[in-house]
Amino acid sequence: MLFLAGFFFSGCRSAPPPSHAPAPLPDPKPRVVRAIPRPLAVLPWGLAVLLSGLVGTAIGRNKRRAAAGFFFGLVAGPVGWVLIAAGPDFRPRCRFCRSPVEEDAVRCPQCASDLATT
Ligand SMILES: [Zn+2]
Repeated sequence: MLFLAGFFFSGCRSAPPPSHAPAPLPDPKPRVVRAIPRPLAVLPWGLAVLLSGLVGTAIGRNKRRAAAGFFFGLVAGPVGWVLIAAGPDFRPRCRFCRSPVEEDAVRCPQCASDLATT
């Protein structure tokens, strides 16, 4: 009877295992242990990477470079934040003092020049 059970669990292959040795027992245990933590271990990393991208977006938005900020934050993390913070400003510049101003600004906040007249 034990011999038949061993033959059944071995997948009915050519050589049945010895009747006293339960061979398939140590195999499924590490599989169960591995299957549970692996997706949970990836989750905080994914959230951290996404958060890093969002921080880069927040930094880049002030310079009209939200997409670049997201990319740099996603790929390089805090290094990307520094890169986007030190990088070029894509906002329009004042005609008189060259300081970055908002797109629909009427007066330059730096030199108080009138920007409304073209
Ligand atoms: Zn100005």
